[in-house]
Amino acid sequence: MAQTIACANQKGGVGKTTTVVNLAAYLALAGEHVLIVDLDPQGNATSGFGIDRAALETTLYDVIVGDVQMADTVLATAVDHCEIVPASVSLAGAEVELASTDQRERRLTRVLAPIVDRYDYILIDCPPSLGLLTVNGLTAADSVLIPTQCEYYALEGLSQLIATLNLVRDNLNPALAIKGVVLTMYDARTNLSADVAAEVRNHLGAAVFDTVIPRSVRLSEAPSFGLPIALYRNDSRGAVAYAALADELRRRDGHVSAIAPIVPASAAPSPVLPSTPDSSRALAAGGLR
Ligand code: ADP
Ligand code: MG
Repeated sequence: MAQTIACANQKGGVGKTTTVVNLAAYLALAGEHVLIVDLDPQGNATSGFGIDRAALETTLYDVIVGDVQMADTVLATAVDHCEIVPASVSLAGAEVELASTDQRERRLTRVLAPIVDRYDYILIDCPPSLGLLTVNGLTAADSVLIPTQCEYYALEGLSQLIATLNLVRDNLNPALAIKGVVLTMYDARTNLSADVAAEVRNHLGAAVFDTVIPRSVRLSEAPSFGLPIALYRNDSRGAVAYAALADELRRRDGHVSAIAPIVPASAAPSPVLPSTPDSSRALAAGGLR
């Protein structure tokens, strides 16, 4: 039975989609059968695999709102054993249409159920909000993976997300676990990246993956070729990092180990970052459960 992981952070541009696409590709290359569910109306995971959204006959929208079966929307990708349920902009309408329906938060859970057993991992790429689509993703998931950009307000954003996770647990999905926090867009040339990484680790400890994703132009170029980094520049730093992340995830799950995690050289010791009262309070009051 698959383990379903929602990749979520209400901030846009923190690396959710990049993480889903590249982690999925490396998990599949390591022998796992992987399904990506593109839950973002922007459809960046879909286009990141070179799929033309405009040409799609059915997408996740038709499954969530209509009566199309999830299995009938699954597409192959350029990576063997890595499949995707694509999204198009129509999915934005699903958020509105679902709002007035019964069990509106459990729609994704229900439509995923018939195909869950076919996969080892199902990765859900959530939109950059904490709206009904993301709540559907968190309700359908066993755990949540949280990409966090190494920038100033990282902790503040995390505290909001944690509050939402706690609400989802209390009302919809008590078993929702934290898969981990992934530090993204790490820039080894700046003290800020090192400071933020240290601060996040300080607050969240073992929940933070050892592997850190560096800022890498190759990672940002790959989607314009419709390829995951594994098929675009498998020797780039970003590629090595996502391969290591997949390996670390599989090791945490008790699968086979392959290569050592990538840990950036730590920069000079740094002063404590100013965290907002809100973020400190939320993290202190339970932090990551
Ligand atoms: P999100 O899904 O959270 O909105 P994306 O994964 O789409 O974020 O990333 C936002 C932008 O940053 C994209 O243009 C992406 O190509 C780029 N990007 C993501 N991760 C990296 C990275 N490690 N290095 C450089 N650019 C990145
Ligand atoms: Mg995205």
